[in-house]
Amino acid sequence: MFRSAIRTSLSKPQVASQRFSSGGSRGLKILAILYRGGDAAKQEPRLLGTVENELGLRSWLESQGHEYIVSDDKEGPNSVFQKQIQDADILITTPFHPGYVTPEVFNKAKNLKVCVTAGVGSDHINLNTAIDKKVQVLEVTGSNVTSVAEHVVMNMLLLVRNFVPAHEMIERGDWDVSQVARNAFDLEGKVIGTIGAGRIGHRVLQRVLPFNPKELVYYDYNPLPEEAAKAVGARRIDTVEELVSQCDVVTVNCPLHEGTRGLINADLLKKFKPGAWLVNTARGAICDKFAVADALKSGQLRGYAGDVWDVQPAPKDHPWRAMKNPLGGGNGMVPHYSGTTLDAQQRYAAGTKSILEKYFQGKEQEPANVIVGIGKWATKAYGQR
Ligand code: NAD
Repeated sequence: MFRSAIRTSLSKPQVASQRFSSGGSRGLKILAILYRGGDAAKQEPRLLGTVENELGLRSWLESQGHEYIVSDDKEGPNSVFQKQIQDADILITTPFHPGYVTPEVFNKAKNLKVCVTAGVGSDHINLNTAIDKKVQVLEVTGSNVTSVAEHVVMNMLLLVRNFVPAHEMIERGDWDVSQVARNAFDLEGKVIGTIGAGRIGHRVLQRVLPFNPKELVYYDYNPLPEEAAKAVGARRIDTVEELVSQCDVVTVNCPLHEGTRGLINADLLKKFKPGAWLVNTARGAICDKFAVADALKSGQLRGYAGDVWDVQPAPKDHPWRAMKNPLGGGNGMVPHYSGTTLDAQQRYAAGTKSILEKYFQGKEQEPANVIVGIGKWATKAYGQR
């Protein structure tokens, strides 16, 4: 009975103005799909984004009478995700171990009103279907953008300076300076460009400026605010093709959507400067995995680094795990963790709680956190529409 009261209240006109009434603050079913942390999560309670530590929300949610189901089991029709989503009111999931909300999942999820991304990047949800089904998509905008920007700068340095093969040589007990120095350069004096100059892209530009690059450039249909562009001295380039042809280092910092899926494919890779470095911490599916592996193998790319894969967890035979350039280096891949440092986990756990609290109290959400409002796009970051 309570559930039907919720549905009734959500279909009333006041929710269309993005004031979210839960029809009261008790009795909702909240499903969280998080990654399993194992011993690490038992020993380190600040690993909040894990199944074990449950974003720190259980006692708070249960004290208000809500049901809280947490699992990492998300694949296949018999998974906890697929079963529990059928009558969940709210889904929380993270980009690090996403519960993929496809149109089929939406069709099953009869009570679903809100999807919360504990982190940044909501491409695991079919956003067009969310609009059709009037399910809001909210994320903790900004919660891990500094964490990712730092990782991007680290990736640029480790590729350009040929760090990984140098370290592996030391672990093997070898010592051959020329073998690693023959493919090591300075970041200083290079042309560095970002595809996407939002929160992360802008922070990357700010952080690489002190390295004294030859030039900073960006491609984004939403230009940087004039003051921000001036402060970093970044030149805007009109097309992605032009950007990649001018850069020594390219970094991808845009969301995954219809306009960016497979954007970096064999054709575009041919337009890169020969021997360029590519860093992608945005989403794996923005790059064609086989085309990237081929470009690295041929030397067209000197290096590729990042932490995002299509799909996650990445299968054991994913070509990016072991791909190498002709000199046996150029691979800086790690599991998806750039945006889930302990500092970031604290921020996205607190942000998730704040989103839920506003929802329970029928208060307006922070506009920057709304990706999809009720029946409409609320962000301009997921492609030109
Ligand atoms: P943001 O919304 O602040 O900025 C994204 C920018 O990309 C916007 O300016 C938008 O106009 C631009 N953009 C969109 N489509 C584009 C295209 N086709 N070409 C060029 N630019 C385009 O987002 P953000 O906070 O900077 O995050 C960006 C993305 O990074 C997220 O959507 C997510 O996929 C990824 N991310 C990854 C991690 C991680 O842990 N690896 C963590 C956070 C975010």
